[in-house]
Amino acid sequence: MIGDPVRHSLSPLILNAAFAARGLDWVFVAFPVVAGDARRALDGMRALGIEGLSVTMPHKGEVADLVDVLSPDAEALAAVNCVVREGELLRGHNTDGAGFVAGLRAETGFDPAGRACAVVGAGGAARAVVLALAREGAAEVVVVNRTRATAEQAAALAGEAGRVGVAGDISGADLVVNATPVGMAAAAREGQDVLRTPFDPSLLRPEQVVADLVYVPLVTPLVEEARARGATALNGVPMLVHQAAAALTLWTGEPAPVSAMSVAATRTITKA
Ligand code: NAP
Repeated sequence: MIGDPVRHSLSPLILNAAFAARGLDWVFVAFPVVAGDARRALDGMRALGIEGLSVTMPHKGEVADLVDVLSPDAEALAAVNCVVREGELLRGHNTDGAGFVAGLRAETGFDPAGRACAVVGAGGAARAVVLALAREGAAEVVVVNRTRATAEQAAALAGEAGRVGVAGDISGADLVVNATPVGMAAAAREGQDVLRTPFDPSLLRPEQVVADLVYVPLVTPLVEEARARGATALNGVPMLVHQAAAALTLWTGEPAPVSAMSVAATRTITKA
């Protein structure tokens, strides 16, 4: 894995737990790589014969420009979170959106096809979720974000189904996704986000599914508020686990041991 910072990433724990559970002779290591050094890191991957690479901030966009081939999702998002080495060729994927949908399905049984969805936020995670919901046949994907220009770019990823909305649109959605960092324990500790929830929780209804992409704390303020209103709510662990599971399968060709990965993630977050 390359990124900066990567010291506190859960990915090594989750993926090494997965390799152990499957009895695979693989190891996952996080390398701190500063902005601008992604090209040298990919050269190193080739030279060292590293089979796969996870890519996180700030390299996802640069790696999309540097690999030899892009998957359709990585191309649409212009962002790579997973590289597979195929001999001399490096193929860039983006497993975030598919990971989100797989986690949502596994935890709640929610099928986006024909449903109205609201995504709050318009950054890298929101874009991946918007694209994935549209690919799954969502009837509508409304993007609600404090900055209109980025909301428009994100909504465009959903084609005809996408539009920019306002907070009031949250009430009309079957699925509500928080893709902002509001509610993160670290941000709260550093005083970055004075808001407890990314929008007024009185907008939520009991019939809705509410997915917070934040996973520290495990019960985020939004998850707590949604459950108090009778909605079905999940945190960001399922997405975290399923995007890593998809990467593991791309690298090894093996099915991923999702429950061992979830246990590793949840245990580590609980102890932190
Ligand atoms: P990002 O690219 O920095 O985007 C952040 C988005 O949140 C932007 O749209 C930003 O609005 C909005 N935002 C930030 N602070 C806000 C605030 N105080 N109030 C309202 N809106 C705010 O970040 P990202 O990579 O998309 O990540 C977003 C969140 O998802 C993070 O908490 C991250 O940990 C989580 N995440 C989880 C997973 C997972 O596997 N569960 C994967 C990826 C990300 P502007 O456009 O106005 O700046």
